[in-house]
Amino acid sequence: MEELLTRNFCIIAHVDHGKTTLSDRLLEYTNTVAQRILTDQHLDAMDLERERGITIKSHPVTMSYPAKDGRVYKLNLMDTPGHVDFSYEVSRSLAACEGALLLIDAAQGVEAQTVANAHLATAQELKIIPVINKIDLPSANLELCLKQLEDILMIPEDEAILASGKSGIGIEDILEAVVSRIPSPRWRDHPHTRALVFDSIYDSYRGVITYMRVFSGALKAGDQMMLMSTGQKSEVKEVGIFTPKMQKTDSLGEGDVGYLVSNIKDTSEVKVGDTVTLARQPAIEMLPGYKEVRPMVFCGLYPLESNDYEKLKAALGRLRLNDAAFLYQSESSVALGFGFRCGFLGLLHMEIIQERIRREHDVEIISTYPSVVYRVMTHGAADYIEVDNPVLLPDPGTIDEISEPTINAAIHIPNDSMGDILALIMEKRGTVEHTDTLDHTRVMLTCVLPLNEILVDFNDRLKSLTHGYGSMDYELGDYRPADLVKMDILINGDPVDAFSSIVHREKAEGKGRELCERLAEIIPPQMFKVAIQAAIGGKIIARDNVRVLRKDVTAKCYGGDITRKRKLLEKQKEGKKKMKLIGKVSIPPDAFIQVLKNN
Ligand code: GDP
Repeated sequence: MEELLTRNFCIIAHVDHGKTTLSDRLLEYTNTVAQRILTDQHLDAMDLERERGITIKSHPVTMSYPAKDGRVYKLNLMDTPGHVDFSYEVSRSLAACEGALLLIDAAQGVEAQTVANAHLATAQELKIIPVINKIDLPSANLELCLKQLEDILMIPEDEAILASGKSGIGIEDILEAVVSRIPSPRWRDHPHTRALVFDSIYDSYRGVITYMRVFSGALKAGDQMMLMSTGQKSEVKEVGIFTPKMQKTDSLGEGDVGYLVSNIKDTSEVKVGDTVTLARQPAIEMLPGYKEVRPMVFCGLYPLESNDYEKLKAALGRLRLNDAAFLYQSESSVALGFGFRCGFLGLLHMEIIQERIRREHDVEIISTYPSVVYRVMTHGAADYIEVDNPVLLPDPGTIDEISEPTINAAIHIPNDSMGDILALIMEKRGTVEHTDTLDHTRVMLTCVLPLNEILVDFNDRLKSLTHGYGSMDYELGDYRPADLVKMDILINGDPVDAFSSIVHREKAEGKGRELCERLAEIIPPQMFKVAIQAAIGGKIIARDNVRVLRKDVTAKCYGGDITRKRKLLEKQKEGKKKMKLIGKVSIPPDAFIQVLKNN
């Protein structure tokens, strides 16, 4: 088969190793974007991404490059999301390429994400071109980087290109390596049209815009296309490429990366990893690697002001249009009123969505404690049920076994924090499988941890115990049985659903005591005695009391009038009884927020 003058590649790197800067430099060098139009970081569209320095959505771009061999190549640069929460999306972006530039910051060396990304690229059979970046830095340590490349990533050091995205060193070498080392587009030898969907966005004028890579055949306006996972058919309205703006073309052919506009109205119908084919001559077999993405972390989101409910609902609807991996459905809570149960790929995904609701949609929200998805076997049941909300856990008496999701983590740390980190891993119920020396200052721990245990503060503590030098990357592991129980928090005997959680039995007491103490501090003094208890099933495992504000109603009765005094005291007692009877404690709404926030 003749060689196509097309090269499809991506840049993979640990956060901050210079991916965006280098991408910009490539666009500039190939005159794809004039320098003056280049905003600081061209490929990261959303402000939030810019702030956090991570790429959430993949924006491809097509460049034209006249190579030293005298031929003009079409180079498609795919941008990949840089975080583990989006690892399925990363793997689909990689599958749309034949090669990858693997960036290593010359001053930082190989990091957790570098290793994880290199493994993902190898799994997709990509040609890896190692680039040691930021060599302009005085602190650059080339010798160490090259040694790590060989020792940790098993890549011969003479393959490395030395570069600086900032000062423009090595840019031409990189483009030449892309042309000469990365193979021509693969999988063209197929009788039918097949294109891989690697992203989709929602445009309010044109509906869903699908981003895809064509492997075999072609697609053009007027074609009837079919999505292979569902069999759904639709008419192609427009196809085009990214320059990086969308630019309409007559058709998209073998090896091309571009977009497609059709009649489809909802992004949830266009799934990442799906195969697009032609309805009249459909392919039989999908492109490899498709799977349904399922949220792993759930929490309840509630409007702070109950009359913002509709506004929150509209915000969730709009976010969902652009992010098929995010799920929500309405739920209600005794403590927090009406809100939504939401599902996310991981913690970062959850934080980003919450932040966008606050910033872009201007709704103040409160979220409940995050939960993973547990698998619960009950007596005599044929299969397990999945529980993503502690409130819905079946009666403990009927449960045979609860299993929880685990992660396989690679944790990079300085040698001197080893003791602290091992203690942290143990506290989080993890086990270290093996330890590898990275260089004379750092080690990599490979461990298994319950996903539930890293949800809240693991990363923060890893960072603080290693003075910012530690980094972690993980992939989801299997489900493992564990001694898990549901812990409720009772205020005056009533369970408050927003505080329910599923915890390991051994940790329940400590966590229960902590929550009770904090609530007792936050709830203002009451006129009557208010007990705050943590309970497993019917058993109280921790308890605290809210301070009592004893209003001295008799203060104004001087001396003698004992009957009047008694009458007043009776009245006060009655009041107390009434309150107790109803079980209503006047808790300021922000108490919930404070407790949940501090968790
Ligand atoms: P990304 O997170 O991988 O996309 O990294 P960025 O491109 O945003 O770069 C992270 C930081 O490193 C920014 O402050 C850049 O200015 C800086 N940076 C990027 N490339 C270079 C380089 O070649 N040399 C130096 N000295 N700094 C760089």
